[in-house]
Amino acid sequence: MEWTYSQPVKLIFGTGKVESLDKIFAGFGLKNGLLVSDPVFVKNGLASKVSDYSRGALIEVFSDITPNPTVTNVDDCARLIREKNIEFVAALGGGSSLDCAKAACSVCRTPYSVVEFHSGKRKFEKDFIPLIAIPTTSGTGSEVTPVAVLSDPERGVKAPLVSDNFFPMCAIIDAALTLTVPSAITASTGMDVLSHALEGFWSKNHQPICDAMALHSARLVFEYLLPAYLDAGNLEAREKMSEASVMAGLAFGLPKTAGSHACSFPLTSVYHIPHGEACAFTLDAFTRINAEAENGRLHGFARMLGFTDAYGMADSILEMKRAMNMKITLADAGIPEEKLEELARLSQHPNMLNNPVAMDLESILKMYRSLKEKS
Ligand code: NAD
Repeated sequence: MEWTYSQPVKLIFGTGKVESLDKIFAGFGLKNGLLVSDPVFVKNGLASKVSDYSRGALIEVFSDITPNPTVTNVDDCARLIREKNIEFVAALGGGSSLDCAKAACSVCRTPYSVVEFHSGKRKFEKDFIPLIAIPTTSGTGSEVTPVAVLSDPERGVKAPLVSDNFFPMCAIIDAALTLTVPSAITASTGMDVLSHALEGFWSKNHQPICDAMALHSARLVFEYLLPAYLDAGNLEAREKMSEASVMAGLAFGLPKTAGSHACSFPLTSVYHIPHGEACAFTLDAFTRINAEAENGRLHGFARMLGFTDAYGMADSILEMKRAMNMKITLADAGIPEEKLEELARLSQHPNMLNNPVAMDLESILKMYRSLKEKS
């Protein structure tokens, strides 16, 4: 086995860390910054508090960002960066805001629309302005990945754009920022964390450092996601989910995700299921499919977490989804029988090739058909 490991993002973890933004920015010599914020924080006042914490280093706010950010969001943000001669960006929000900011920090150094890059016509030069990521959900791990997932409604695609330019200079992980996440979003983003941990582990590109992080992260999700879901103000559970989220980001960053993420893209773009819930929709099914792969290494993983085997872990994932009122069957998700073939075809995203059990159109269809009835 051969592998390499690198991780260029400085991580600053701790409740209340966001209040020291001025010192953190000064440490990097950053000034004339743009705050790219989820619109919810402009409404509830957090964006203006964060600007205050920066003591003048953040001079503008951009918040025109939709969930599953669009190429238009990125182009608008890049235009503002150019117009105002912005020197760095601080991104405050979930994966949507972070991904919009990541792409804008490179697009702003070009005369082009992000569509040129997202459609594969052009590649980025190594030219970008620095990004400080401040995640407010425990979910995507976007703060440690070189990925920005963007939607292009005109081309009808939601797809990842990948560039080493997108690694933030630093990520500030402050669990206090996640205390306001509503329960349904806690559930969805938390299951995204579990998908990253499991898929990073079973990806064909798995490697030992990421395996260890996957195990640590999955253990935390099984212990702390439900408490965070049931009591939004449970700071201990929120902190542990923040830890799980960043560790899971590191667990899948190099091995990449596999079948559940491949399926999540059409589940979100066609059936409008939020990203984490879309990953969770097939996660227990893929746990069963992958249970025996590579001499049953997933059984070993499950046993280290206290399950009887990988099938026991799959049962527990299904139980968690039930307990958090998430979609379990095709009917719950609003997927009609006659659309299953199309869904299976759209699920043949390149990430599917990382699945340890080869999945062709027929086996993807069979997997979706297994979600017909409540088990
Ligand atoms: P999100 O950023 O879309 O936010 C979901 C909702 O939660 C929004 O309505 C937002 O306003 C709200 N919200 C966020 N933080 C909040 C808070 N602290 N309090 C109250 N409300 C809050 O959700 P997400 O799951 O973090 O990100 C999903 C996006 O990230 C998708 O587009 C997904 O494809 C992408 N993604 C990216 C990567 C990556 O490596 N870049 C990995 C996985 C997923």
